Parts: sequence; C-alpha cells; structure tokens
Amino acid sequence: MESGSTRLAAVIGSPVGHSLSPAIHNAAFRALDLDWTYLAFDVARGQGAAALDAMRTLHLGGLSVTMPHKAEVAQAVDRLTSRAAELGAANCVAWDSGELVGHNTDGDGFIDSLSHDGVDVAGAACYVVGAGGAARAVITALVSAGAAQVVVVNRSPAGAASAASLGGSTARVGRPAEVKDADIVVNATPVGMAGTPAATSIPIDAALLHSGQLVVDLVYHPVRTPLLRAAESAGAATATGVGMLVHQAALQFQLWTGQAAPIEVMAAAAHEAIEG
Ligand code: NAP
Repeated sequence: MESGSTRLAAVIGSPVGHSLSPAIHNAAFRALDLDWTYLAFDVARGQGAAALDAMRTLHLGGLSVTMPHKAEVAQAVDRLTSRAAELGAANCVAWDSGELVGHNTDGDGFIDSLSHDGVDVAGAACYVVGAGGAARAVITALVSAGAAQVVVVNRSPAGAASAASLGGSTARVGRPAEVKDADIVVNATPVGMAGTPAATSIPIDAALLHSGQLVVDLVYHPVRTPLLRAAESAGAATATGVGMLVHQAALQFQLWTGQAAPIEVMAAAAHEAIEG
C-alpha cells in the first residue's frame, strides 16, 4: 500500500506500454517489503532531458531509460559511469551524493546472467550478430570479462565496424560462416521477435551450430525463439533473453535501493508477464 513516504521509480520510453519493467521491479519491491513502487511513463522523443528534470524536482528514487532516450539521457545526467560514457547510452539513472548518475547495466546484466547459469566467458571465442545498442553493450562487456575474441556480424557493414571498434583488438568484423568457430553465439538483432515480419526467421545459418556451443538470444518474446529451437536441435546449449532482462534490472534495483535484488522473484515475474 502506497503511503506519504513511498518512493517512486519509473521507466521512460516510447512506446513503453509493453515494458516488462513494472512487473519485474514491483515484484522485487513486494518480495523485500520495500515501500517503493514502479510506473511506466510514455515520454516523447526529445523529452528525455525534461524527464530528468522531473526526476530532480519530484525526487524520484530511480529511472530506467529505454528507446528512444538512452543517448539523450546520457547527455543530460550530472555524471556517467565509464561504461555508459563508452556506449554513449544510459539505461538507468541513480542518485549518488546528490548527483544524477547515468549507468548502463545491459552489458553487465548479460555477463551476470551467464554467470548465474555457470558460464564463464573468460577465454571464450564469441560471435555476436547485430550492432545496435544491445550488441554494443554485449561486445564491450564480453571484452571486459576476458573473452578471447569477439567476432561481429551485422546486416549493414558500417554498423558492424562501429560496434566492433568498441572491443579494441579483441573484437573484429567477421563473416557469417565464422559462427561455427564460436564457443558463445549471441543474437543481438530483433530477428525472431514475436509480432515482427522476421518472427519466424533465424539470424544465422543454423546448419553451422553444433554441440559444445552456447547460443544466447537477447530476444525474450517468445522466450524460446526459432534460433534457440534450432540451436537445441543442433545439440548446442541455449540461454534465453530473459536472463539479461532480469539481471540488467537487478543491477538497477541494487543501484536505487542499495539492496541485493531477489533474482528468482524477478525472473518469475518476467516469465509470467511474457507467457501469462
Ligand atoms: P537496435 O539498436 O535497433 O539494433 C538492431 C540491430 O539488429 C541492428 O544491428 C540491425 O542491423 C539489426 N537488425 C534489425 N533488423 C534486422 C533484420 N531483419 N535482419 C538482420 N539484422 C537486423 O536494437 P537493440 O536495442 O540493439 O535491440 C536488439 C534486440 O535485442 C531487440 O530484439 C531487443 O528487444 C533485444 N534486447 C534484449 C535485451 C534483454 O535484456 N534481453 C536488452 C536489450 C535489447 P542494421 O544495423 O543493419 O540496421
């Protein structure tokens, strides 16, 4: 029950009506009996900085940031973490010593989700398809976590070159056939996402997948995408996009509340929101 001292956290984006973040964060607040609540605000493109002003005025406890505001918010915060600065994108704003700090929890959330499943990326040969915001976060995180190499493949070559450059000498633009040489394969495109023209498509040549590989799809709706089904058929291990979704949210929760996030509760809420 909300009270006069309830803290408010929120996500800003547009569109934002299908965001799973309210379900995930509110489940976590309830599980820890915290006097917090979480709402979604549809904020028009170009109004990200104004939303930050509102955060200051209203003393919001925390902000999640999604499309199309990540770059604008990164420009408008008082300070950025080195990761958010590197990516030029903030997906989270938290208070620190009276300042609004822009964070990017996507990459660390991705690594945390793999660690949670017992996967260590140190020394791994990685293949990432896609070069947008999610891919850029994953590439930098894989390199920071000690991946041996990160091969980047993307529909538009210029995007691939830009994303690979974030990984320094560890990352490079590759060829689609190189997926067969990877230990960890990541889909960071929307291909396979329900409700899109590419919903039944697979963004890599599934005939090249094999046992001994881990295939991770960042798409989480549906949870088991066409790519993951094909990877399973080929004998590869799989990880769904729900892992990254939950762990990037968990890092935000910890930044705002100072408390360890109830991961399993958040994962159950995410699954219920997607599948229920
Ligand atoms: P984005 O910035 O728009 O980038 C999309 C990327 O996918 C671009 O590299 C684009 O290639 C490529 N792409 C788009 N449509 C394609 C198609 N039909 N065939 C081949 N490549 C295509 O999007 P994003 O924010 O990176 O998100 C990508 C996906 O990851 C989305 O499905 C999103 O829901 C998911 N995601 C999941 C999480 C999670 O927590 N699990 C977090 C973030 C994102 P071009 O450069 O050629 O346009």
